[in-house]
Amino acid sequence: MAGGPFGSLARYVSLSGLHTKTRMTTSIEPQDAAVLPQPEQTFPELTEEQIARVAAQGRTRRVEAGEVLAAAGAQVAHFYVVRSGAVEAVQRKDNGDIRVRTIRPGQFTGEVSILSGRPALVSIRVCDSGEVIELERARLLDLVQTDAELSEIFVRAFLLRRVALITGGFSDVVLVGSNHSSDTLRIKEFLTRNGHPYTSIDPDRDSGIQELLDQFRFSMADLPVLICRGTAVLRNPTNREVADCLGFNEGIDQDHVRDVVIVGAGPAGLAAAVYAASEGLDVLVIESNAPGGQAGTSSRIENYLGFPSGISGGDLTGRAYTQAQKFGAKLAVAETATHLDCAPGTYKIDVDDGRTIRARTIVIATGAEYRKLPLPNITQFEGAGIYYGATFIESQLCEGEEVIVVGGGNSAGQAAVFLSQTARKVHMLIRSRGLAATMSRYLIRRIEESPKIELRTCTEITSLEGDGHLERVAWRKDQEAGETRDIRHVFVMTGAKPSTGWLSGCVALDDQGFVKTGPAISAEELAATKWPLSRPPQLLETTRPGVFAVGDVRAGNIKRVASAVGEGSIAISFVHQALQA
Ligand SMILES: Cc1cc2nc3c(=O)[nH]c(=O)nc-3n(C[C@H](O)[C@H](O)[C@H](O)COP(=O)(O)OP(=O)(O)OC[C@H]3O[C@@H](n4cnc5c(N)ncnc54)[C@H](O)[C@@H]3O)c2cc1C
Repeated sequence: MAGGPFGSLARYVSLSGLHTKTRMTTSIEPQDAAVLPQPEQTFPELTEEQIARVAAQGRTRRVEAGEVLAAAGAQVAHFYVVRSGAVEAVQRKDNGDIRVRTIRPGQFTGEVSILSGRPALVSIRVCDSGEVIELERARLLDLVQTDAELSEIFVRAFLLRRVALITGGFSDVVLVGSNHSSDTLRIKEFLTRNGHPYTSIDPDRDSGIQELLDQFRFSMADLPVLICRGTAVLRNPTNREVADCLGFNEGIDQDHVRDVVIVGAGPAGLAAAVYAASEGLDVLVIESNAPGGQAGTSSRIENYLGFPSGISGGDLTGRAYTQAQKFGAKLAVAETATHLDCAPGTYKIDVDDGRTIRARTIVIATGAEYRKLPLPNITQFEGAGIYYGATFIESQLCEGEEVIVVGGGNSAGQAAVFLSQTARKVHMLIRSRGLAATMSRYLIRRIEESPKIELRTCTEITSLEGDGHLERVAWRKDQEAGETRDIRHVFVMTGAKPSTGWLSGCVALDDQGFVKTGPAISAEELAATKWPLSRPPQLLETTRPGVFAVGDVRAGNIKRVASAVGEGSIAISFVHQALQA
């Protein structure tokens, strides 16, 4: 679960056994039930001076006990500061409401949903009559962008409250599915990367599951099943269906012409979103999966500036996601760009749900997809023994077992070191004679020093076997006879190819399919795409004016988080110039 915005704390949830049916039927507790890591920061009391600054943006009104100020499942419309009396955050359960927290005078409502515009996870109800200051959500967002002191207090509290909801098991989603199912893992990953709390039940471990399935008229054969807000029941839903059910994209107007549409929410797209939104542009990001990109699958990034002890890719990109939302960027998840129409005038992007999004400028940040091993049955084991990322979720699956990591780059090195903390043994398979040419020295040293990692040079996997889940792997070294081992987990870290299929021939690509920009574009390529301006393309501009490419998808890019973030950030200055032209 390292791949989530609230990674380190969220990890506790899946470990702690809170993801069980028992937790779901917790009886109503008299005390506030949320687990608070830092109570004084999670529910701070504003000073009179701070309250006055909030009051100037809204209205003060009387509220009566029992009045519902916000309903779980509905979009958050207002933010409240309690002046007198008290309000409570409650979550509805089968057997009554659970009070998550009482909010007293000087304290305020809200958690991450109020920034993102997604539906609320809890209801807000008045428990003691009194007075509140009421602000429309848009006014709160203005305040967060203009008042640095209040912004810090609010955003920190919203994040800590979401963490408290996750750790306290306050979820409106129950996922029933085996950890050995690739679809269960996919849905978990999607929810985690979206920072959405969920309760998970593994039928392999929880024998009482049939009762719950009967309640919703499902059988074991229907798994994985997602119970969404206690009402909708989805059988093996796509990520899009999960997003729709939980209202992830609600409230995002995708019809008007945007200043800039960013395609892809990896580090490059998120950086572009933060800069575009903070500089006042009307920005929409569309992301085919969930925020994070490849970086979101990295267990620990140690070479990103400012994090001397390293940071998981999920935590880094999760923070960037919240930051982009804080500045007002809109981010639609589980939406894939399928076609770019680059006829002069407004650019149009077709999305896989049949909609067309229009933009005055575009930032292509679609990065790269993992390369697969050339084995005929590999897709059959994806998520069931074959993985393309090594996050907390996967590391738990192979605890105490032998695993294989394929690849000799930094991502493979990180995965091997990370997995060696939980696995019994890590076999690292590379085709070359050594790691020196492809991996950073610090990782090579850790691999050499780890008694659990065995480097196997000049070695390739030749076959995979198993019934449902991977059970055996055969490999061969040079011309020697092959060897078969009972290994159930293989991590494939063999690089990536650019995600440029959707560009529909609009922009010039290099011979490997990466997008060419600025000085890399030849005069012939400009002529072929009928470049209409007297100036040449800007540094990150493609063969279409106002269409930019950043990060791993760009030809000549250095495939690192820092370069993706840097390019995403500076692209926005070129976007401003294009909009003014
Ligand atoms: C396991 C691993 C470990 C790594 N470790 C490090 C490290 O330690 N240090 C380091 O500097 N770098 C590391 N990297 C490399 C780094 O993660 C990448 O360079 C970086 O993520 C590139 O960012 P990006 O935004 O350009 O592209 P990506 O991260 O690839 O993001 C692209 C995004 O676009 C989305 N997308 C693709 N096509 C579409 C479409 N048609 N419509 C909508 N959305 C689309 C994808 O879903 C994805 O979210 C690692 C990579 C991996 C895989």
